Amino acid sequence: MNTKVWKVDKYVDNLENNPQVVDAANFLRDNEVVALPTETVYGLGGNAKSDAAVEKIFAAKGRPSDNPLIIHIADKNQLKAFVAEVPEKAERLIEAFWPGPLTIIFKRIEGVLSETATAGLATVAVRMPDHPVALALLKSCGLPIAAPSANSSGKPSPTTADHVLDDLNGKIAGVIDGGATGIGVESTVVDCTEAIPVILRPGGVTKEQLESVVGEVHVDAALTDEAARPKAPGMKYRHYAPNAPLFMVSGTAKFLQGLVEEKRQEGLRVGVLTTEENARLFEADVVLTCGKRAELETVAAALYDTLRRFNLEKVDVIYSEVFPNTGVGHAIMNRLQKAAGNKLIIE
Ligand code: AMP
Ligand code: MG
Repeated sequence: MNTKVWKVDKYVDNLENNPQVVDAANFLRDNEVVALPTETVYGLGGNAKSDAAVEKIFAAKGRPSDNPLIIHIADKNQLKAFVAEVPEKAERLIEAFWPGPLTIIFKRIEGVLSETATAGLATVAVRMPDHPVALALLKSCGLPIAAPSANSSGKPSPTTADHVLDDLNGKIAGVIDGGATGIGVESTVVDCTEAIPVILRPGGVTKEQLESVVGEVHVDAALTDEAARPKAPGMKYRHYAPNAPLFMVSGTAKFLQGLVEEKRQEGLRVGVLTTEENARLFEADVVLTCGKRAELETVAAALYDTLRRFNLEKVDVIYSEVFPNTGVGHAIMNRLQKAAGNKLIIE
């Protein structure tokens, strides 16, 4: 399959009628799959009402079929077609955070969306992305769009159209290149089907931000306890992994440098994932900086690209700094833990 690339400047006016966006929307209406920029990462979109379209998403990504997709909408009014009820707390979260990096789980009306998209669950995950190109595409096609991240399953999520093509060129109808995404980690997933909302996946909206709007918020036990079964099916999979084994290192720079030297003596090509503040403390074959520790948003934005760059550098092993588990650091550490398969070395 020839994968089309539509270049779209997100700052131009009247994006909904932009010929590139309209062309991509026509592919979606024909039940083809198209990658699109959002404010978190690039998504791989398909008509959420069509089993054929949704099956193409799973096939292109190699995604396990028990992992449901997030449904993307451009207008709150689209909810009533497939959501059984919008609880009062969900309503407040929508008012506060949509469009934005917050996915809300609702009870579902049966028979509207593809059962493949929802993996047969009685619930559905929905979000409204805060990206002018994504919103224009959603409006232009007029459909609810199922869209997981546009990477091969298990790989780091794509934050540029080039990342998408690295993984999916020839496997999808096209990609809208709208430039690099902003936030860099996926949306927060919050379950609003119970009285107290539960975070199933940390992401762009922090627990503190959610609590400021709805009061008490719980965190799924599986996020802190490896033995617990996660409520979001996708959270049980290893994800975001670079090709080389990745170890998180909790300790001083000197301790991390010691680990690097041990491996270099064994003849291995060693990578270090660090930050602008600490880069000068390390000597290794490849030292990559991933944003600034003092501004964790910059670490989130650079994380997946940095993990992919280690693949290009063909390192044998990677040691990474760890980050505080608060604010957006919660999402960063969740992704780093998955990328590392939870391998943590403590000084
Ligand atoms: P991705 O599309 O790769 O960003 O992942 C979507 C995340 O949302 C995965 O962890 C899914 O398991 C989770 N998810 C989607 N739908 C539901 C649902 N109905 N209930 C719980 N988790 C869900
Ligand atoms: Mg994903």
